[in-house]
Amino acid sequence: MQATLSVLGSGTSMGVPTIGCDCAVCCSVDPHDRRLRPSIMLQYNGKLVLIDTTPDFREQALRQRIRKIDAIIYTHGHADHILGLDDVRPLSFKRITGGPKIPLYANESTARVLKHIFKYIFDDDYKFGSIAQVELHPVTHEPLQLFGATFIPVPVIHGEAEIFGYRFGSAAYLTDFSEIPESSLPLLQDLDVLFLDALRHKPHPTHSTVENSLSIVNRLKPKRTFFTHISHDLPHDETNRQLPAGVRLAYDGLKLEFEI
Ligand SMILES: [Zn+2]
Ligand SMILES: [Zn+2]
Ligand SMILES: [Zn+2]
Repeated sequence: MQATLSVLGSGTSMGVPTIGCDCAVCCSVDPHDRRLRPSIMLQYNGKLVLIDTTPDFREQALRQRIRKIDAIIYTHGHADHILGLDDVRPLSFKRITGGPKIPLYANESTARVLKHIFKYIFDDDYKFGSIAQVELHPVTHEPLQLFGATFIPVPVIHGEAEIFGYRFGSAAYLTDFSEIPESSLPLLQDLDVLFLDALRHKPHPTHSTVENSLSIVNRLKPKRTFFTHISHDLPHDETNRQLPAGVRLAYDGLKLEFEI
């Protein structure tokens, strides 16, 4: 079926502009150079699925006029991917969701971080007003069925940790990786849309670079590729002019249609 993917944020963990930085990209007037923390939203079959809840989630939800969330899938437990969970509160109250809690899909290590950071949400004895109405569901290496679509967890190496990207239909979203293991490549064949981490040109211990992600594009040959988790080292326009056809930097607000 037809689905829409919207980029809620295309920036690295500190966001662009970075606080206190006067570099050309942080001072740029091009709106494409303003990057909130990395997340996407998928809409299909009348449902809305988020991948990650960033520290900018409130701003992202207001910009996109999000009125309900049917599920949240997590890639991993780093701060830039989870800290907005508390801000799903107004969308999680019964009057909006019609009853059930919002399901959060997370692997074991991510669930552990969520329960630690947001202890008050998952404890049953919170007495001080409203808390997010959410419940955890495990993600393993097995595909996940959600509202008529299949989400395949794609193991990627993020520094020393194995985390998940996801493939859903003809698209895949791989944020935060330094390496994609050979064993994950078969999960990424025949893609229409591929999102890849491309922090900057200079090597980084836990993130992919433009050059490394271009070599992945050459192997997988997706129809359209978008780089994300972008730092202030990459000016939008100038970098796009250097990228080959079919490969572009993602930007906040980018919206694509694909088959899920
Ligand atoms: Zn990140
Ligand atoms: Zn800067
Ligand atoms: Zn990370």
